[in-house]
Amino acid sequence: MMDPEVSVRCCIAGGGPAGMMLGFLLARAGISVLVLEKHADFLRDFRGDTIHPSTLEIMYELGLLDEFLRRPHQEVRTLGGQIGDEFVEIADFTHLPTHCRFIAFMPQWDFLDFLAENAQRFPAFHLKMEAEARDLTVDSGVVTGLLATTPGGPIRVKADLVVAADGRHSTLRERAGLDVLDLGAPMDVLWMRLSRGPDDPGQTLGRVDTGRIFVMLNRQDYWQCAFVIPKGGFDEIRARGLPALREEIAGLAPYLRDRVDELKDWSDVKLLSVSVDRLRMWHRPGLLCIGDAAHAMSPIGGVGINLAIQDAVAAANILIPKLLQGSVSQRDLEAVQRRREFPTRATQRLQVILQNRVIGRVLASTAKMSPPFPVRLLGWMPFLRRLPARLIGLGFRPEHVSSAPAAG
Ligand SMILES: Cc1cc2nc3c(=O)[nH]c(=O)nc-3n(C[C@H](O)[C@H](O)[C@H](O)COP(=O)(O)OP(=O)(O)OC[C@H]3O[C@@H](n4cnc5c(N)ncnc54)[C@H](O)[C@@H]3O)c2cc1C
Repeated sequence: MMDPEVSVRCCIAGGGPAGMMLGFLLARAGISVLVLEKHADFLRDFRGDTIHPSTLEIMYELGLLDEFLRRPHQEVRTLGGQIGDEFVEIADFTHLPTHCRFIAFMPQWDFLDFLAENAQRFPAFHLKMEAEARDLTVDSGVVTGLLATTPGGPIRVKADLVVAADGRHSTLRERAGLDVLDLGAPMDVLWMRLSRGPDDPGQTLGRVDTGRIFVMLNRQDYWQCAFVIPKGGFDEIRARGLPALREEIAGLAPYLRDRVDELKDWSDVKLLSVSVDRLRMWHRPGLLCIGDAAHAMSPIGGVGINLAIQDAVAAANILIPKLLQGSVSQRDLEAVQRRREFPTRATQRLQVILQNRVIGRVLASTAKMSPPFPVRLLGWMPFLRRLPARLIGLGFRPEHVSSAPAAG
C-alpha cells in the first residue's frame, strides 16, 4: 500500500505507449518516476497493434529489440489495397534505412507489458495500477504534483515534473485549462474481429468500393477489421441491423461470408469516434502533455502509437539532462513542444488532406471505384512505394535515444 503522500522527481499520468516509454527512459537514467495507470491491467479493448520501424529502431537503440521480437507478433513488409476490382501495392517497407524493414503487429497490451517488465528492472521505476489522476496541485501558478484516487484511498503525489500521458480524453490537460485546436474528421471507425481461414489472402489490405472502406489486418488466426463510416453514422448502421452490416462486409470481402455470423451482437463491434486535434500549448510550468494527450491522431497510417513513443523519446532526450542537473524550466518544456510540433502538424496535415479529399469523397460516392492516377503510379513504379513506406514507417523527424543509462 502506498503512503497517502509520495514524492518523486517525475509523475506520469497514464500507462499507455507514451507514459510507459517515458517512464522507462527516465528510470533507466536513474530519475525516480511514478507512472499512474487508472486500469488494473493493460488487457483492454483493441487500441491498435502497429509497431512501426521507427519504434522498432528505438527498441534496437535500447538493446531490447531481440527480446521484443521473440514475443508473438506478425511482420508486414508491404501494404496494398483493393480499389474497385483492382489490387494495387501502396507501400514497401523493405528499403527503409532501419534494422527492421517491416511493421510488427503485436497486441498493444503485450507491448505495454513488455515495456513495464523491462522498466521494472530499474530501481527508480514505480508503476501504480488502478490509480486515476484527478487533479493537479498548483502553487503560485506552478504545477507541483497531482491528486489521484486508488482502491486504498486518495493519494497526493509531489513531483518536480508532472507529465500528462493520459490519452485523448486527458483529464490533466483539461484541469490545466490548455486550449485544444480541433481539426475535425469526416469519419468514424467500427472495429471488429473475424476469424481467418487457411485459404484467405496473406496480406494486410484495404478494400475501397462504392461508398465503403474496409481495412483488414492479418493477425494470423483472425482478421482485425476496420469498417470506416461517415462521422456520426453508427446509429443509422445500428438501426439497419446487424444482418445488413454482415451483408455489407461479405459484399466487400466475399471469402468472409461464411464467418460474418461471428458478429453475434453489437458488443462485437467497437466504435472509434475519430478525432484529430492538438494543444496549442503542450505545457505550463511544471506540466507537460505528450502523446494523444497533446495531439489525437486520425487512424490513417496507424501512426498514433508511434508518435506517442517519439514524443516520449524526445521528452526524455531534452529533459533527462535538466532533471539530472536540477529542475526543469518552462523553456525546457517549450523545447519539447518545439521538437515534436512539426512532426505532429505535418502528419495531421497529411491525414486531414486524405480524410477530406479521399476518405470523405469515397464515403459520399455512389459510383464504382477505380484507383486514382497517383495510386496507379504506385502500382506501375515499385520504387515510388518507398515514399508512403517512409511516411508511415518512419514519419517526420524520427527520434533517436540520446540519454545514457544511469551508471552502475
Ligand atoms: C480502436 C482504436 C484503434 C487504434 N488503432 C491504432 C493503430 O492501429 N495504430 C496506432 O498507431 N494507433 C492506433 N490507435 C491510436 C493509439 O491507440 C493511440 O494513438 C496511442 O495509444 C496513444 O498513446 P498514448 O500513450 O498517448 O495514449 P493512450 O494509449 O490512450 O494511453 C493513455 C493511458 O492513460 C490511462 N489514463 C487515462 N486517464 C487517466 C488518468 N486520469 N489517470 C491515470 N491513467 C489514465 C488510460 O487508461 C491509458 O492506459 C487506435 C486507437 C483506438 C481507440
